[in-house]
Amino acid sequence: MTAAVHWPASARYQQVQDTAPAGLGFVQDLLNTASLGKPRQPDLLETVVTAEEWLTSSLATLSTVDSSSPPLPHPLDTRGLGRLRSLREDLRTALATGHGDEPSPAVPVPSVQTTATISVDPSGARLLPRGKGVELLRSYILIQLAAATYADTMRRLKVCANPRCRGAFYDRSKNCSRLWHDVTTCGNTQNVRAYRARLKERELSTPR
Ligand SMILES: [Zn+2]
Repeated sequence: MTAAVHWPASARYQQVQDTAPAGLGFVQDLLNTASLGKPRQPDLLETVVTAEEWLTSSLATLSTVDSSSPPLPHPLDTRGLGRLRSLREDLRTALATGHGDEPSPAVPVPSVQTTATISVDPSGARLLPRGKGVELLRSYILIQLAAATYADTMRRLKVCANPRCRGAFYDRSKNCSRLWHDVTTCGNTQNVRAYRARLKERELSTPR
């Protein structure tokens, strides 16, 4: 049973059961700071002020599920905000590529890098975030993705297949086959038809 964890950005679009566990929930919350939904919700990374508000709230939630959550980068400057925004966009693009429908082959899949420390003690090896402020936060976020990749839960973190939505959700379905963050708003017949058409186009353009 999922504990009721309130992620401030994700809560604007979805149910608690669609949010990822522990630190991955924070990564999902970052993805969902984007302007999404119907009616459109504001971009929480629009200004330093709104970004600090979101970070304060989301990191408070994170500290309830992860005792090693990073501190608030304070004060957040415009450069740090820019780093957060580009991380968000790169991760959204990378996850959208998982659907096989976008970006087109001409758009390179972003490669995001950070540094981390590996610590080994009798209990095992752990990745620890490195850096200060926003860099520490970036390191923490990418470590969550590395941990999810090793645990094979990374494939469950998805962005909605509706190109106009791209809301991030955590697919808890048995066969991990969900495409839409919300089937009633995004999985309508028009979107399903468009999605199938894109798949077909891709099949035809793939050399055999
Ligand atoms: Zn959606």
